[in-house]
Amino acid sequence: MTKEFDAVIVGSGINALVCGAMLAKNGWRVAILERNDQPGGAISTRTDVFPGFTVELLSSWHPLFLGGPAYADLASDLARLGVEYLNTEDPTGVVCTDGSAVLSTNAQRNAETFGGLGDLGAWNAVMSDFGNKADLAFGLLGTDFWRPNSGKLGWKAWRQLGRRGVMESGAELLEPAGPWADRTFSSPVTKALLAPWALHNGLGPDDASSAFITKVIAAAITLGGMPIPVGGGVKLVDALCTIVTEAGGEIATSTAVQKINVIDGKARSVLTSDGNTYTASKVVIASVTPQSLYLDLLDEKCVPEKYRSAAQDYRYGRAGMQIHLALSEPPRWNNPDMANVALVHVLDSINSFSESVNAANRGFLPRRPTIVVGQPTTIDSSRAPEGAGLLWIQLQEVPRVIRGDLAAEITHTGDWSSKVRDQYAQRVIDQLQPHIANISSGQTGKIVLGPADLEGLNVNLVGGDPYSGDCRIDQYALWRPLRLANGHNTGIKGLWHIGASTHPGPGLGGGSGYLVAKRLRERRR
Ligand SMILES: Cc1cc2nc3c(=O)[nH]c(=O)nc-3n(C[C@H](O)[C@H](O)[C@H](O)COP(=O)(O)OP(=O)(O)OC[C@H]3O[C@@H](n4cnc5c(N)ncnc54)[C@H](O)[C@@H]3O)c2cc1C
Repeated sequence: MTKEFDAVIVGSGINALVCGAMLAKNGWRVAILERNDQPGGAISTRTDVFPGFTVELLSSWHPLFLGGPAYADLASDLARLGVEYLNTEDPTGVVCTDGSAVLSTNAQRNAETFGGLGDLGAWNAVMSDFGNKADLAFGLLGTDFWRPNSGKLGWKAWRQLGRRGVMESGAELLEPAGPWADRTFSSPVTKALLAPWALHNGLGPDDASSAFITKVIAAAITLGGMPIPVGGGVKLVDALCTIVTEAGGEIATSTAVQKINVIDGKARSVLTSDGNTYTASKVVIASVTPQSLYLDLLDEKCVPEKYRSAAQDYRYGRAGMQIHLALSEPPRWNNPDMANVALVHVLDSINSFSESVNAANRGFLPRRPTIVVGQPTTIDSSRAPEGAGLLWIQLQEVPRVIRGDLAAEITHTGDWSSKVRDQYAQRVIDQLQPHIANISSGQTGKIVLGPADLEGLNVNLVGGDPYSGDCRIDQYALWRPLRLANGHNTGIKGLWHIGASTHPGPGLGGGSGYLVAKRLRERRR
């Protein structure tokens, strides 16, 4: 069967859905084709895993979406379709060897916290300096570098900062978080509170630009908190799908795209696993990894050799793991301040953070991982039955292939067998035990997702990499996805590339979907 649309989108993650919804609002008929049986990609809300609970199996926190331009474009439609966001005054905190602290959206509380840590002057200076350049910083992350007007940002920076200032800011932009935290703050607790946020952009404290990312996220969280949608990310997914179908589009699940057909140099249609052809009168947009796009979906003869070779060299980052725990009562933290915090990092110190990232990069299971403990019910109480507790635990310092165990406890054969996965999960729970008294005794349900499970849930998470590609600077910004610096343009007429593997990278902001939809909308005008 052949079906006809204006745009055909491969995959249904946040970028595909944002892109599809924006084009649909512009009057386009859009088909979104998804190989899984549900749309959403790394948004996977499940009500069937623990009875009575709503569990975000993968991504959970939406500050990037609410703070980004895609939300601004679609907010009125999302509200009309019932998407409602809740927020918190206590978005993040840390429990480390030297103490604990909470970063709040309340400036007075932050002044007390940093004052108590002896870092108030330093914190104020960081925020004020960042505030002066915030439009440039956020502009850099949201700019479509490949449009003629992207030069405006550089010009603005030049006018605002001068030649010397631009040079200085360039060095600041590349600084790693570890040295920055060491030279800026005196308390190990402040360092451990802020630096682990680099993880959430795929970086470690010794990676270039991790200080910049830490500052961006610290500012974004203190201003915007940690919003999540009532009832889970599925509500956002459903609403975005509705915007597409209301305009005559289609969301086809259990429909894997096998080929993108290029005729006379232009992408014209796609062939799906069930033998159907979806034709695209205007564009085909692929939200897949570079390797899938250039080496698999496109015929070899359509792709210039330099694209194939650059795609071959595209690198994946560390893997991730998720542990979900249902508890008979809310988590009993030793430090009661943590009970209301949405996302707590539990680690020894910035030094253990550095050790664990490097261990995982080199193929070793960390001894003392940095543990991300999410507590969705602190914001949306509907996620668990009354009186019960729910923990969303994330690990981002996980080797994709195992070479060894830094603690020399877990034996392995290189692969992520379920035995190795569960033993490592137990190390994490044992590490949390001194901080959360009922983490073991109160368990009524447990799910552990290792790297292989993540890839099984979403093929774009290659080797369990939650960010669909290493985010270090040589593969970020201008050089994401390919070192050819071609951006979302595939070099094939009518074919665009979006998703976490493309600029501006991973996260629920929907940035690449937004940038491509905006570009296409403006073209049509
Ligand atoms: C465990 C985990 C936790 C995270 N937590 C957060 C968080 O809390 N907040 C945050 O901002 N970010 C988070 N992230 C990152 C964020 O969720 C992702 O970067 C983002 O959702 C990726 O979106 P995407 O548009 O690239 O598409 P994806 O979500 O990767 O979806 C791509 C879809 O394309 C489909 N597909 C691929 N190939 C084909 C094909 N040939 N035919 C048809 N369909 C195909 C896949 O099945 C998949 O459904 C998390 C990621 C993970 C994995």
